[in-house]
Amino acid sequence: MPHTRPNPDSSAQPADPSGRVARNTTPDRYAVVGFPISHSYSPLIHRLFAEQTGENLTYSRLAAKPKEFHRIVRRFAADGGRGLNVTVPHKEAAFELAEEIGSEAERAGAVNTLSFTDNGRIRGDNTDGIGFQRDIERNHGISLRGKRTLVLGAGGAARGVVAALLEVQPSELVLANRTVQRATDLLDILNAPANFSTCPLPALSDYQPFEVVVNATSLGLHSMELPFPPGCISEETFAYDLVYSPQRTPFVDWASRHGAGKAVQGWGMLVEQAGESFAIWRGVRPDTSPVLETVLAKARV
Ligand code: NAP
Repeated sequence: MPHTRPNPDSSAQPADPSGRVARNTTPDRYAVVGFPISHSYSPLIHRLFAEQTGENLTYSRLAAKPKEFHRIVRRFAADGGRGLNVTVPHKEAAFELAEEIGSEAERAGAVNTLSFTDNGRIRGDNTDGIGFQRDIERNHGISLRGKRTLVLGAGGAARGVVAALLEVQPSELVLANRTVQRATDLLDILNAPANFSTCPLPALSDYQPFEVVVNATSLGLHSMELPFPPGCISEETFAYDLVYSPQRTPFVDWASRHGAGKAVQGWGMLVEQAGESFAIWRGVRPDTSPVLETVLAKARV
């Protein structure tokens, strides 16, 4: 499990006569970094977590194109920032940047949570996998164990998802990606067992429908025809889109049109992975259920 870091500001304060520790009034700074980033709900989610737990922090958005990523992260840390969530397209770059790596991030080769430690080092963790698993198993009540599973996409987010699936042991996992080599490299990194395999997207038409189909590609924030063979889906399929949007996403639309038993967006994963990041940074675990309700209401999903 990733380490937790006590808030140095609060421990440095003298205790008042009631035994409570006085809080420093300067909030700790956090942000999400990615490109594009203007659509991110992470500032809202972390504000709700902070209100719920009484943690003193601010959380903003940082836009960083790939060439700017290292410079912007180092500047944020040098200016006193305490942690960053990392999103598209920087999760592998964040893994390279981190000097200490949590076990989930090590396994996935991708980082979505950076912490700037008191000794000036950069720590990297990955909470995507646990967020994905918690949303499907707890919020949607679907057990992933023993299921025939298809994961579409082999980018930064898929790394955490496939690493989590390795733990829950599906009966078979097919990892399909436009660039097959990227999928093969991922299974190699994970030292995946023989029931995990890769294929190019068009070759999926040779497969029987899957019980679980996960869209971990970055396709589908805009309406478009998706390059996935519809034979992957049947009425037994639980279709899960990592992409989330106030509108119905193209993948959810596609899976529903082709008869999926259930098709959902990744709002719950978004909140669950954020809750895990918050716990790493602050040492306190927020209750994610009311925050997910508020986020869904704000997005009017
Ligand atoms: P990424 O590292 O940029 O990977 C993108 C993936 O999409 C790759 O597999 C890429 O294939 C594939 N792809 C892109 N364009 C394609 C196209 N035209 N046709 C076929 N495949 C295409 O992105 P990421 O970090 O993995 O994120 C993926 C998505 O997950 C994003 O939309 C992100 O917002 C979402 N996400 C959601 C959550 C959540 O909490 N719900 C968490 C993390 C990520 P190639 O390898 O061939 O380029």
